Amino acid sequence: MNTRKRVLAWGAAILLLASCATNPFTGKKTLALVPNSQILPMAFQQYNQFLGDNKVVTGTRDAQLIKTVGQRIAKASERWLNANGYSGYLKDYKWEYNLVEDKTVNAWCMPGGKIVFYTGILPIAQNETGIAAIMGHEVAHALANHGQQRMSAGQIQQVAGVATSVAMSGKSQETQQIIGTAFGLGTQFGVMLPFSRSHETEADKIGLQLMAIAGYNPDEAANLWRRMKANSGGQAPPEFMSTHPSNDTRIANLTKWAPSAKAEARKFGVTTFK
Ligand SMILES: [Zn+2]
Repeated sequence: MNTRKRVLAWGAAILLLASCATNPFTGKKTLALVPNSQILPMAFQQYNQFLGDNKVVTGTRDAQLIKTVGQRIAKASERWLNANGYSGYLKDYKWEYNLVEDKTVNAWCMPGGKIVFYTGILPIAQNETGIAAIMGHEVAHALANHGQQRMSAGQIQQVAGVATSVAMSGKSQETQQIIGTAFGLGTQFGVMLPFSRSHETEADKIGLQLMAIAGYNPDEAANLWRRMKANSGGQAPPEFMSTHPSNDTRIANLTKWAPSAKAEARKFGVTTFK
């Protein structure tokens, strides 16, 4: 195929797959490149591979706590969406919450609700409410589709092309890598690429509401970040701080937003917070 034909083919593929939708969590028009029903199964496969390559902690109190908090945050997401006229938004999600033995101070949520906490973050989370603050933030990134928005134009082309070729020929190793890039997994599995400042701020705000609707005290989110700051000694843990917003801005924002997160929770009949 010559260059011109190739460009036309890419263009056609993108037009075919792209559709504009309003993201319920951000209220922004986002370009949905590939439907969830097509892209999420690829994410699930990658998640399983990650679990296979790492030591998943099972049968401990901590492992159970990650699942308990995860289920409550997932339920809060569903309640919020249903109440706001977006029931069915999570129909292709297959929530899963795993604790992985690793000293890294990190946690992440892949699109489709696939969550990993590293044991290294637990001392900073400190308790169930701290875990909920982290979980709310990570799930918010996934729900707001920040992963897809982070892709460059070149990656968009790749993913559009991959979706087409997957439909025709099944999933190759190379396909998996490109999809991984689309989700921000980077070249190493489970190492998330940083989000932009606006995405971080958005995830903080949405995450705070999710934790409150799930029955966790949103006032504790600011305290979590104080501990994160004390632990980091000026150095940012991989996903969380990604250099911005600064810890202090983040703590100030979370403190300012906590009352409105509680007000949001009250709409769902949640009036006490643990
Ligand atoms: Zn984040």
